[in-house]
Amino acid sequence: MPDNQLKLIRVTALLDLSLAINSALTLDNILDAVHDTIYAHFHTEKMFLFMQREASHRNFTMQKSFGGREPLPLHIADDGPLAEFFAIRREPAQPSDLPAGVQAEVATLSEASPELIVPCYSKDELCGFLIMGEQKHGAYAPDDMYFFQHLGLVLGAALENARLMQAATFDARTGLYHFQAAQPRILKEMYRSERYGHDLSIIMLDIDHFKKLNDTYGHLAGDKVLSEYGMRIRRQLRQSDLAARYGGEELLIVCPHQSTQSALFLARRIRDAIASSPFEVPEPISSTASMGIAGYRAAEKESLEEMIARADAALYDSKRGGRDRITVAA
Ligand code: GH3
Ligand code: MG
Ligand code: MG
Repeated sequence: MPDNQLKLIRVTALLDLSLAINSALTLDNILDAVHDTIYAHFHTEKMFLFMQREASHRNFTMQKSFGGREPLPLHIADDGPLAEFFAIRREPAQPSDLPAGVQAEVATLSEASPELIVPCYSKDELCGFLIMGEQKHGAYAPDDMYFFQHLGLVLGAALENARLMQAATFDARTGLYHFQAAQPRILKEMYRSERYGHDLSIIMLDIDHFKKLNDTYGHLAGDKVLSEYGMRIRRQLRQSDLAARYGGEELLIVCPHQSTQSALFLARRIRDAIASSPFEVPEPISSTASMGIAGYRAAEKESLEEMIARADAALYDSKRGGRDRITVAA
């Protein structure tokens, strides 16, 4: 194929890929688009993404391994020679072109068989690496570097967008939705319930004596318990359920298509999951929660606030009744 034609194909691929990853909002969708394009153009099977999972994480850890493999437990130190080199030289490079000190760090990634290192940048800062394995047909050509250099910029910006989207949607402590972010989905489910006559139920959960737990074991221990609540609750949910952090230690679970009776079964499963094993903070401690359940009154076109107020009143009854219990609103 003539050189110019190949260049044009690569530029077009880069444009298509930019469009695809800028409209993708989840990390997985972004990475799938990157993988598909690179595989189609370079026949590279092995590809690994290293990034800082949260702004507070310093090392770049492997987040994704393409082609159905599990990520490997590898990392790139944020203050090591590799990160320092690419913070200044903003171009992809093959390991053999790197200075000896940097090559030594690349050698620690040998399980990923790196043939090309593509640094990614967001707002001018190094934010990750795409490590490419070998091409099926020959080595990466000098002309390919244009493609990969721009890929690093486009991917860096997309990764940052995905991170912001994730932070705006999910509460970092519990892994559950921010209530504000969940609200449009809840309203949509209420509308469907009204229109098609499905049931819809909500569970309001509040951790018992959480203030005392904080006072006794410290705020960090409280944070840990809260985060474990998020995990234990998520494990009990069906695909269509949605859980949000409503307030400090108040969690809201929305169950589309479920009567209050099935929400009660779910609430009991959650209660069992909380009681099943102690929370290690690191001392093993037990915790309980009180819950209130309300079914959506579609015929009355009840508002979300009204439904929540009824679940809250039922929750309050559980508290008054001695805590660690579930009440269904009348
Ligand atoms: P009750 O059984 O009546 O619910 O008692 P309680 O102590 O749980 O209730 P209260 O609402 O008085 O206290 C809730 C406490 O939760 C107060 C607040 O400091 C704590 N809290 C809220 N959010 C967080 C958080 O993110 N981390 C920690 N560690 N504590 C939190
Ligand atoms: Mg409480
Ligand atoms: Mg509370």
